[in-house]
Amino acid sequence: MGTELALLGGAPVRTKPFAPQHALGEEEKRAVLRVLDSGVLSRFLGEYGEDFRGGPQVRETEDAYARHFNVKHAISTNSGTTALHTAVAAAQIGPGDEVIVSPYTMSASATCILMQNAIPVFADVRDDTFCLDPRSVEQRITPHTRGIMVVHLFGHPAEMDAIREIAAASQIAVLEDAAQAIGATYQGRYVGTFGQAGVLSLNYHKLIHAGEGGIVLTDDDTVATRARMVRNHGEAVVEDLGWQDIANTVGSNYRMTEIEAAIAYVQLQRLEMLLDHRRKLGAHLTRRLAEFDGIVPPAVAPDATHSYYVYAIRVLPERVGIARQTLVQALRAEGIPFAEGYVRPLYYQPLYQQRVAYGHAGCPWTCGHYKGQVTYAPGICPTAERLHARELLLADLCHYPLTTDDMDDVADAFERILENVDALRNWEARQNEGVAKA
Ligand SMILES: *Cc1c(COP(=O)(O)O)cnc(C)c1O
Repeated sequence: MGTELALLGGAPVRTKPFAPQHALGEEEKRAVLRVLDSGVLSRFLGEYGEDFRGGPQVRETEDAYARHFNVKHAISTNSGTTALHTAVAAAQIGPGDEVIVSPYTMSASATCILMQNAIPVFADVRDDTFCLDPRSVEQRITPHTRGIMVVHLFGHPAEMDAIREIAAASQIAVLEDAAQAIGATYQGRYVGTFGQAGVLSLNYHKLIHAGEGGIVLTDDDTVATRARMVRNHGEAVVEDLGWQDIANTVGSNYRMTEIEAAIAYVQLQRLEMLLDHRRKLGAHLTRRLAEFDGIVPPAVAPDATHSYYVYAIRVLPERVGIARQTLVQALRAEGIPFAEGYVRPLYYQPLYQQRVAYGHAGCPWTCGHYKGQVTYAPGICPTAERLHARELLLADLCHYPLTTDDMDDVADAFERILENVDALRNWEARQNEGVAKA
C-alpha cells in the first residue's frame, strides 16, 4: 500500500463501505409471527380496566425492562420522544416552569419541555464527556427552575452525583434522556435509573430497536401512574382511578403495539452482547488513536462505562496543524466517514431565536405564565459552540457487526493523514487561495 494521501491522488486506505448496524435474527422473526398468529396487534383501551396498561406482550416487555434495569416500573411508549414528553408531564412540570437542559443533543431533549408549555434553559457541556457541566447547571438555577433534563450524550454518562446534589438543594426533579446510552453505567448502576424518571429510545438508529419505541423507567409509583395516563388518555380514567390531583393527566395515544413490544423484548436479550461488542471496538480504536498528538479520543470516566452510540473525537486544530474540515475531507477520501460536529447548539433553531412554538403569540415564553428571563443569545454555551464549530468529529463506527479490523482501517487512515500533515497544509493553503480568488 502506498503512503500518498487519497485526497492528493493516492489509493484510499479503504474502499469497501462499513457495514450498517444489523442485529435482528430468527428470534425477532418468531416473536413477531407469534403476535401475528394471536390476532391481537394492540390491546390498549383508553378506559379504566385491565387493558388500560396494554396487551400481554406490552406488559411482558415492560416487566422485562423493569427487571433488567432494576427499577420498579418500565412504561413503554411509541418513541423516545413521546417517552420524554411523558416523563416531563409526569414530573408535574407545566406553564411558567423552567427546565435546564443541554443544547448539544437531539432536539427532542428540549422540545419535550416545550410540549408542557415549560421553558427550556440551556446550560453548557463539558468538553471531555460532552454532557452537562454541573457548574453551568448550578448557574442556571432560578426560582422558576423545576427540573434538570440530563442527556447522556453519545453514550457517556453525565455526572449524576453532582447533578443530583444540585437538584436536591433546589428541590427540583432530575429527568434523564438515556436514548443514546442504554446500558451505560455510572458507579455501577444503569443510567436512566438515577432521576425521578429516565428515558430510553428504541428507534432504529439506537443500540437496540423495535423500529420505533421508547421506555420510561421510574421507581416512583405516582410518577408511573401519571406516565401511564399521559400515554393513554388519562382524562378518561382519573375518575375511576380516584385520582385527585389531575394536573398533567390529559392523555395522548403514545402506545406501543404488541409487535414492537415483541421485538423490543428479544432485543433486550441482545443488549449486553451488543454493548460488549461496542466497548471492544471503542477501546481498540481509542488505544490506537491515543498515540496521535492533537487527536483526543472519547473519554471514559473512571466510574463510568460508555455505550459508544457514536464515536466522538476532539481534534485540536492548533496541535494537528490543519483545520478540522481538512481532516474530515482527508478521512473521507481515505474511505472513513467522519462528520464535522453534531447538531448546532439547539438555541440557534428558529424556534428559540424567534420564540415561536405554539400559536403566534410567543407561547410559552410571553403568554403570561412565565415570569423568568431566559436568554437564547449566541454565546450562552461557549463550550458547546466551540466543540461544534471547531473540534468535534464523529462517526457511527462501533456497531455490530463491525470488527477490530474495521477499526484498524480507521486508525490507519488517521496515521497516514497525520504523517502527511505538511502536504495537507499546502493543499489547504491552495484551497484557501482558490476561495480568495473566486
Ligand atoms: C434518538 C433520541 C431521542 C428521541 O428518540 P426517538 O425514539 O427517535 O423519538 C431523544 N433524545 C436523544 C438524545 C436521542 O438521541
